[in-house]
Amino acid sequence: MAERLRAFPDTIRLLTKERAPARLDPMNEHVTVNIAAARPTLPDSQTVTSVRHWTDRLFSFRVTRPASLRFRSGEFVMIGLMGEPDPKTGKAKPLLRAYSIASPAWDDELEFYSIKVPDGPLTSRLQHIQPGDEIILRPKPVGTLVHDALLPGKRLWFFATGTGIAPFASLIREPQTFEDYNEIILCHTCRDVAELEYGRELVEHVKTDEMMQELLGDALKKLRYFPTTTREPSARMGRITDLLRSGELFSELGVMPISPQTDRAMVCGSMGLNTDMKAILEGLGLREGANSDPAEYVVEKAFVG
Ligand SMILES: Cc1cc2nc3c(=O)[nH]c(=O)nc-3n(C[C@H](O)[C@H](O)[C@H](O)COP(=O)(O)OP(=O)(O)OC[C@H]3O[C@@H](n4cnc5c(N)ncnc54)[C@H](O)[C@@H]3O)c2cc1C
Repeated sequence: MAERLRAFPDTIRLLTKERAPARLDPMNEHVTVNIAAARPTLPDSQTVTSVRHWTDRLFSFRVTRPASLRFRSGEFVMIGLMGEPDPKTGKAKPLLRAYSIASPAWDDELEFYSIKVPDGPLTSRLQHIQPGDEIILRPKPVGTLVHDALLPGKRLWFFATGTGIAPFASLIREPQTFEDYNEIILCHTCRDVAELEYGRELVEHVKTDEMMQELLGDALKKLRYFPTTTREPSARMGRITDLLRSGELFSELGVMPISPQTDRAMVCGSMGLNTDMKAILEGLGLREGANSDPAEYVVEKAFVG
């Protein structure tokens, strides 16, 4: 099994070359573009290959991957568009924002999952991109939501709110996740049911896709998905912090509570969620890790503000 997983990225590249480009894409309603025909004109530019709108506040898109870009699943990069030209100088500067790469490290393309902030300098424009358009992508990946920042463990928890699921969309497609842990639990909380759809579809894809089955087989059963809503009524409601504090999360999943001996956690959400989660996890005896000093849990902001 371990050998098969180690060969996974190469095997996947081979398999995907033999199949249509949309084969790897869980959001297969995308419009695709002939990349060879698209000519980049911006510095560090990449070409948009597909776009999918999930709600009036959320969309995902895929872009070409720079040949030189290496990253670890879970990391983020700076992406953006050219800003408006300065009225005095006539020169335009890039308008860049941090974005988690939602696709895994082995994928031939890069996927992003984005908010649409109505007056947001970047996303008020980015939400209108179409296949064939160019975006700027600085190829310097960084981040703490990586396997290297955690000590070995048996069970891995991903706690996300909103677009904070993006780094975990990468990590649940990363073979090392299945190799290193016996159980992987993805908890995603949003206000409304429609906002959960990207994650729900992705988990379903990971579990049922023929190629993933071929490569990971029974290991895919290690992945469990725990979605909750905080506003719209749904099968499971409540903030993940409340469900953790009350222990309902563990009883609903039928698992033992989190312990520093067995459990590792990654958290990605608003400042409020991250602060609350840190307090909860440290209360359970987990210590915060970093690339240079791995420990039992890691946290990253899903956005600033
Ligand atoms: C490490 C890191 C990784 C990030 N990864 C992603 C990602 O994968 N996807 C993504 O959509 N954004 C991500 N962001 C946020 C992103 O950098 C931008 O803030 C976002 O794209 C909005 O840009 P903007 O210029 O339109 O508005 P901004 O001026 O950047 O933001 C305006 C306001 O909108 C709100 N806001 C911004 N981003 C979000 C968000 N994602 N969810 C909810 N509210 C938000 C905040 O209140 C913020 O003050 C990340 C931020 C950081 C720090």
